[in-house]
Amino acid sequence: MRRTNTFALSPSLEQDERLYEIADGCARLWNEICYRRRQSFFNTGKVDWNTKDLYDRYKCIIGSATAQQVERKNSEAWRSFFALLELEKKGKLPPRIQRVRPPGYWKDRSTGKRKQLILIRCDCYTIEGSTLKLPKKLEVNWRGKPKWNNWTRQGLLTLLYDPIRRRWYARQTVEVDPPHQPLSNKRAFVDLGVLVLLDVVIEGERRSVAYSGRPALSNWWYLSRRINRLKSIAKRTNGRKTTRLIRSLFRKRKLRFRQYVNTIVRRAIQRLWEKGVCEIVAGDLTGIRDDARFSRKLDSMVHNFWSHRFLLERLQCVAQEHGIKVTTIDERGTSSVCPWCGSTSVTKMGRLLKCRSCGIEAHRDTAGAINIGVVFGGRVNRVLAHPLEVTA
Ligand SMILES: [Zn+2]
Repeated sequence: MRRTNTFALSPSLEQDERLYEIADGCARLWNEICYRRRQSFFNTGKVDWNTKDLYDRYKCIIGSATAQQVERKNSEAWRSFFALLELEKKGKLPPRIQRVRPPGYWKDRSTGKRKQLILIRCDCYTIEGSTLKLPKKLEVNWRGKPKWNNWTRQGLLTLLYDPIRRRWYARQTVEVDPPHQPLSNKRAFVDLGVLVLLDVVIEGERRSVAYSGRPALSNWWYLSRRINRLKSIAKRTNGRKTTRLIRSLFRKRKLRFRQYVNTIVRRAIQRLWEKGVCEIVAGDLTGIRDDARFSRKLDSMVHNFWSHRFLLERLQCVAQEHGIKVTTIDERGTSSVCPWCGSTSVTKMGRLLKCRSCGIEAHRDTAGAINIGVVFGGRVNRVLAHPLEVTA
């Protein structure tokens, strides 16, 4: 499996200038390639793949291996764009993708400046002790602790400048073996949501476990209020829409939320692994918007920021580290069926689901998880209607 190690770099002033120069060259090359390909695509519907003259022009500034990596990354982006277009034509686009767009420029949207990014091919760098050895005899010191130490193969290294923290970072992709293997062969059914991030039912167990998302939400709203206050101050005092402090708060809001989701997912997977689960069946997130329709505040949040992919991606990623397989199924309709008698005559009140045929009153997320189990043919008929609520 592929993972990423992140290092904070501490370049000297002179190295910092050289890094900046190379990164700017990379961004200019990317943007020029992109401009030409976009133009040919919009005019003729085909892409002009020949960019050799650009490669020749930039290879002496940023090095030929890096120029080649930039060109290759751009071609990959175009190829995946065409693959998505094909899917869209067939109507098979994954539900999380709403619009297919051709590859864009390396540019920061809020400041309009070029993104500072350098791509280093896997065979062009080495990490020795606390020094990162780059081409052209550039040796930069780094700090921190790599997360993945016993990797089997190193891949692309990306150096990027973070304008908010004013610091260079290096991201190394590595190939590693999964550290754990499943202990038994049970299955678990998971309902993903916003208020309850995960509701987990393990086959053969009577109680489901719900992992609450509320602490993350309240923190999110607290920071949103601070951002709005600062925005209005900035506008009043110097007519600006954003400042570095506002940008850093946006970043903080996102990172805090992600960190919370991460902790919850790790805890949930750890438990599933200990219980001997080897496969997780999860809904494919079409239900999340449905979930948010309950409150306007939640609805706007889901529209504006909730990354549908993030939770599922984290789940898949952490599960893979434990040797657990994740299967996704279409969960449309699973939230409006009674899992105990199969009746569709149900009423929803807040977090509760009430069945008019058999009279049971159940927690909505638990019902969702059980329904996923029912659709998948799992043994879930004896699960209780209310979960054990767990909060980080
Ligand atoms: Zn019922």
